[in-house]
Amino acid sequence: MQLKTILNRIEKFKSFVYRKVRLVEESGRLTLLVDVAPRANGQAICSKCGRRRPGYDTQWPPRRFEHVPLWGIFVFFIYSMRRVDCPTCGVVVEKVPWADGKESLTRTYRWFLARWAKRLCWKDVAEAFETTWENVFRSVKMAVKWGLEHRDLSGITAIGVDEVQFHRGHHYLTLVYQINDGCKRLLWIGKERTTKTLLKFFRWLGPQRSSVLKFICSDMWQPYLKVIARKAKQALNVLDRYHIAAKMNKSIDKVRAQEAKDLAAKGYEPVLTHSRWCLLKRPENLTSKQDIKLRDLVQFNLRAVRAYLLKEDFQFFWDYKDPFWAKQFLTRWCTKVMRSRLEPMKKMAKNLREHKKLIMNWFKARGVISLGAVEGLNNKEKLIVRKAYGFRTYEAVEIALYHTMGALPEPERSHRFC
Ligand SMILES: [Zn+2]
Repeated sequence: MQLKTILNRIEKFKSFVYRKVRLVEESGRLTLLVDVAPRANGQAICSKCGRRRPGYDTQWPPRRFEHVPLWGIFVFFIYSMRRVDCPTCGVVVEKVPWADGKESLTRTYRWFLARWAKRLCWKDVAEAFETTWENVFRSVKMAVKWGLEHRDLSGITAIGVDEVQFHRGHHYLTLVYQINDGCKRLLWIGKERTTKTLLKFFRWLGPQRSSVLKFICSDMWQPYLKVIARKAKQALNVLDRYHIAAKMNKSIDKVRAQEAKDLAAKGYEPVLTHSRWCLLKRPENLTSKQDIKLRDLVQFNLRAVRAYLLKEDFQFFWDYKDPFWAKQFLTRWCTKVMRSRLEPMKKMAKNLREHKKLIMNWFKARGVISLGAVEGLNNKEKLIVRKAYGFRTYEAVEIALYHTMGALPEPERSHRFC
């Protein structure tokens, strides 16, 4: 069987034919050169207007288009581009079906790289296929652009708003997910986490799609709450459990850090060093060493430990079946914390009191939408941003996030290369 037979089977172009296939050695690497030629009577297509036009001349030398490698052998299509004499566009180079514009990688090869970039980090993809990081990046960018243009935005009724720290310092990104059952994906990314950021999201979504939103999960970040109340009045704004737990942990950490400092200043033994994780983790997730440390700590009547016990106590809130009793519990918990003299925890309780209504919405949404979705997506996104450590630009991070979490569509094709 000839290579041409295989190529005609998996990558056939209507107005072109495969000619000679040569195996050569180029700078120490085996390379397949596949000559491509237009069909005898085929007219070229103008790359500007996309219409069939009479030929003008043929460019020399022929261009090389890198294709999916085969058995560790590089593959190139070799083709002499024609120019057309277009009545509307002038003398213009033709458009070929296997590549876009000046791109030197075939479209198939770019989709191939982009698909691998969902499974491996970009650097690994570049290494595996002996290509450049830049080529992988541009391929993913193309896939994301295509996917965003072709995705279906109907049926979005539940969304989650989340933020992620980006780069060192106080740079944030706002991410909006769709969290409908059966469709959980990243919908939108914006810079910062301001009122303006989320307003931009709603502008993008449009008033019609905003008006059918039923649930919006978010944290207690005021700018978000304000915009949600204004732009999606009919939706139930749910403060989700995951964000509340994260905030609670931050408060405990503040208590602990301050106390460790105070103890050190008074010359006490540093009991609180290496205690951070045993106070922040859920007890069932502690390692045995951390468990012993926690038991040690509980013997001292430390502020950090008291904060920890308050947090653990709060977990019961989520187990209530009846929202009425949950509300009672919340009120009692807040009163207890307000008497605790643990400033960061008091601030937390004040926050919860202020947003009681939105927190209680959690019970209305429970069982209707998957409330754990935001946490799952958040973990995934953090991993990507961390993996994306080498990304210098915002654009690269944005593309990586859409690519891995956007559940973006791909063009249909008869042969799957990977
Ligand atoms: Zn034209």
